[in-house]
Amino acid sequence: DSKDYDSETESVCPFCGVGCKVSLKVKDGKVKYVEGINGPANEGRLCVKGRFGFDYIHHPHRLTKPLIRREDAPAKGLNVDPGDLSTHFREASWEEAMDLAATKLKALREEDPRSVAGFGSAKCTNEEAYLFQKFIRQGFRHNNVDHCTRLCHASSVAALIENVGSGAVTATFNEIVNADVAIIIGSNPIENHPVAATYFKQFAKRGGKLIVMDPRGVGMRKFADEMLQFRPGADVSMLNAIMNVIVEEELYDSQYIHRWTENWEAEKEHLRQFTPEAMAPICGIEPEQLRRVARTFANAKAGLIFWGMGVSQHIHGTDNSRCLISLALMTGNVGKPGAGLHPLRGQNNVQGASDAGLIPMFLPDYQSVMDDSIRAKFNSVWEDDRDFSNEKGLTVTEIIDQAYAGNIKGMYIQGENPAMSDPDADHARAALANLDLMIVQDIFLTETANYADIILPASALYEKNGTVSNTNRQVQRVRPAVAPPGEAREDWAITVELGQRIGLNWDYTDVSQVFNEMKQTMASLDNITWERLETETITYPSLHETDPGQAIVFGDGFPRAEGRAKFTPASVIPPDEAPDEEYPMIATTGRQLEHWHTGSMTRRSLVLDAVEPEANCSMNPRTLKLMGVEPGEMVRLTTRRGSIDIMVRADRAIAEDMVFIPFAYVEAAANILTNPAIDPYGKIPEFKFSAIRVEKI
Ligand code: SF4
Repeated sequence: DSKDYDSETESVCPFCGVGCKVSLKVKDGKVKYVEGINGPANEGRLCVKGRFGFDYIHHPHRLTKPLIRREDAPAKGLNVDPGDLSTHFREASWEEAMDLAATKLKALREEDPRSVAGFGSAKCTNEEAYLFQKFIRQGFRHNNVDHCTRLCHASSVAALIENVGSGAVTATFNEIVNADVAIIIGSNPIENHPVAATYFKQFAKRGGKLIVMDPRGVGMRKFADEMLQFRPGADVSMLNAIMNVIVEEELYDSQYIHRWTENWEAEKEHLRQFTPEAMAPICGIEPEQLRRVARTFANAKAGLIFWGMGVSQHIHGTDNSRCLISLALMTGNVGKPGAGLHPLRGQNNVQGASDAGLIPMFLPDYQSVMDDSIRAKFNSVWEDDRDFSNEKGLTVTEIIDQAYAGNIKGMYIQGENPAMSDPDADHARAALANLDLMIVQDIFLTETANYADIILPASALYEKNGTVSNTNRQVQRVRPAVAPPGEAREDWAITVELGQRIGLNWDYTDVSQVFNEMKQTMASLDNITWERLETETITYPSLHETDPGQAIVFGDGFPRAEGRAKFTPASVIPPDEAPDEEYPMIATTGRQLEHWHTGSMTRRSLVLDAVEPEANCSMNPRTLKLMGVEPGEMVRLTTRRGSIDIMVRADRAIAEDMVFIPFAYVEAAANILTNPAIDPYGKIPEFKFSAIRVEKI
């Protein structure tokens, strides 16, 4: 009851890209209860994370004062007790910490500006992401700035920009109400986008044809008309076989292809070799099912394709997305109600942070850093008569490699946790330990902050003012329900002060000024104003000042030459490492319903941690029986990168030669095991396929 609380504040859930709107009920300076309210993406619904995952903001581990590494601290490593930081760090005033950070950054810049790099955050607001990329570009004159999109949907974005001219979804997930058929591939929305999954389930219950494709027998299979549990890494062979059927049986939409696409003849010829019979032994799906799925999708009036990181996190992730784009284009399923392409975005603001330019090859709105006139536009808005580099910057994994090699010497890391999230984590941790200067801005002493020289205490989303953009391209306001603890500050304010201290001409006093500056450089924000966002959620593009925004785009052409989308043929490429005698099984990583990414927030949430307190992996019960392992026992998992000991669960949904490992647990960190090999286009690592050995211990 509202009379039980001192205040109620509307904001947005801080976890996944669905972007559920919430009301935060505050009593005695603490958030006590979170309720789902009527946002366009959630219509009052919340999942367990949104409902119960809020008390981390009041956890005693919150950073409340700036910290500086002690001169007599032990060697850098994962060895700081979060309950007693004094062995490694001493408390400092903001003045001392900022002065030290700025002095050291300026010294590195003097020596070699390219020795500094930045990791921003998809957990921060659009304004904070924009300021962070500007800090590196204006402050150091290069583009070595990236964030976790590199580990998430970078390959999807690369394929979308290449072939439809824009990296965002072409239709909101709510458009499924107008679809006859939907494909969900490489995604487990029941655990990872649970509120979106409720719309998908309703669609299936209403009689919509649901086709689920995944190497794991994910939960959506219970609602599916077709479940294709294909071989890990065999996406291209399966999708090309489906498209081969559409070509051979002439089920494609000639009119649409003729009017809105290019390179069709090459795609058609390329697909002829991928017959269902030839591809079945590779992808593990019977030719008859491939034919049935092709006919169902091609003959529907409107079809949507959703995909997740099972598609993107491969060395052929861009090819996987190219196939999905081709499938939608050849069946005319872009730009009309109930149809489209929708990579389900992971972090709550990974769409917004990418849009805001937190990417080494793109400025805000995916404008190329290599284009002189675009850089000139930004320099003009930034009132700066100097230029910055026209070369693409380094990506997340490239920055880590360069830190390991000693070429990157200083990093500013805002709300990212590469010590847990990067592939081959031992290598990433050695790289972080090798830095001369690491400034970490975060709310907890994350595993990454263990390696920091200077730690700046920042704010959780429920303590912030600004905007975020969800997987649907919907821009929403977040508002502070409570003040940050102790001396912690909002991230944008910290970046502004650090910017001023390294000599930037910044005079922002309110976050709305940052938003208004973004509008000068980002056409996607046309007609979206700070004032409108006070009361509205607006989907970009918004065509006029009262337009709530376009749920579907590209009905009248694509933002490419002549308005045409492109077919890019994809060939079958094997995973980077094949199972062999020494490493005979396949490891894949991901999330669980209760835990978010590297666990720093959800493992400090009472309810979520109580439900899932222990590091675990999952294997097929038949495999466990053959190994003589009981569910609940410990196993040792070993790959070419390293080894972890972890409790194993039985799960029939996992194929007999696979292991599924969540990456939230530092005590058995999945990324110690993962393969850092990357996709050549999106530069995304192959998290979804590592050859692995499992031993009973
Ligand atoms: Fe939060 Fe995503 Fe759950 Fe919605 S579905 S409550 S945004 S975690």
